[in-house]
Amino acid sequence: MSSPGDIPALPEHLYVHVPLCRTKCAYCDFFSVSEADLPLTIDALTGALVEQTLAWAERGLALRPLQTLYVGGGTPSMLGPALAGLVDAIGTHVGFAPGAEVTVEANPDSLDDSLVALLAEAGVTRVSLGVQSFHDDVLHLLGRAHDATRALAAARSVRDWNLDLSVDLMCGIPGQSMGSWLSSVELAIGTGAGHVSVYPLSLESGTPLAAEVLLGRFAEPDPDIAADMMIAAGELLALEGFKRYEIANYAKPGAESRHNTAYWTGKEYLAVGPGAHGMLSADTARTAGFIVPAEAARVRYAIACELQSGLQLVPRVDVETLTADETMREDVMLGLRLTRGVPDALVERAGVSGVLGRLEGTGLVERAGSHWRLTEGGWLLGNEVFGEVWAGE
Ligand code: SF4
Repeated sequence: MSSPGDIPALPEHLYVHVPLCRTKCAYCDFFSVSEADLPLTIDALTGALVEQTLAWAERGLALRPLQTLYVGGGTPSMLGPALAGLVDAIGTHVGFAPGAEVTVEANPDSLDDSLVALLAEAGVTRVSLGVQSFHDDVLHLLGRAHDATRALAAARSVRDWNLDLSVDLMCGIPGQSMGSWLSSVELAIGTGAGHVSVYPLSLESGTPLAAEVLLGRFAEPDPDIAADMMIAAGELLALEGFKRYEIANYAKPGAESRHNTAYWTGKEYLAVGPGAHGMLSADTARTAGFIVPAEAARVRYAIACELQSGLQLVPRVDVETLTADETMREDVMLGLRLTRGVPDALVERAGVSGVLGRLEGTGLVERAGSHWRLTEGGWLLGNEVFGEVWAGE
């Protein structure tokens, strides 16, 4: 799509990565540093993130108001009032379309009522709160920097300021009982959140929790127990009016994440900040100065920023390109994450009707009208399905 004057336009979806956390959680292998290890001040960091965003407009692309902004991390709420300043600056210099979804991720240890007030004033519409559990023993094992009381208070502040609330919860944690898990789900529902994400714990090598499991201090997470917990959470959420719309995401009607839905429906999105990942059409990427092979249809890029040398205006990016065929297979893979599934027409264009037919035989996918979608078994074995679709016929 082009803007007036036929200058190719930037995507309408922007992800900003804030690489800051209070402490490192025991299970986490994402890139983040503590404030003490941040080699620049918070104001310099947020200023550089805004400049990195605006630098895209100097690459021959027109800025246009955003449909969605997602400030993720790390822990964006660790920026304190500067987080509101970051959102305000993006709103001023890039702009938000009417009704835009403006989400910030927050952790309960760095979100209080006064910060929520500033965020609401800056134009934030939605807070994604990393709670993981409302039980202190589980939070302690995970190495989270907050307790359950703090999590409930942070959720209350978000709702008091009339912002949409999403709560992240984690299951399949060593020692976590089904009762503890379901009580966390109930407490999340009780906060008034319109959106709940439920994830099984994934044991990442090199993390302190993986080391504890290797040493035998904790049992290895059991995928069958995690699957039972995911199913039980889904049943409880359904009773309270939440609808599953993606593998791990449940929402009340109209409260689905529009930003994440853009990822799953193959929309272009821009990403700034160290460690961020963006996706552009090959045409947009060429206009922005990427060297892209003639056969490429889609470009995925990851920002490889050395924080030690500050945030460069035009950082080094690692680029992966997809052909038109690969792009269509990727669209099928992404679309299968959604409960509404993928239309026949796309499956046929992508040349994977035979793959889905075989998977139907194993009970992992099914037909629903003119769409293909995952079955309950397919939700639990999604990576197997996606791998087969990616491999093609
Ligand atoms: S708060 Fe999130 S990003 Fe930060 S260490 Fe914990 S899990 Fe990782």
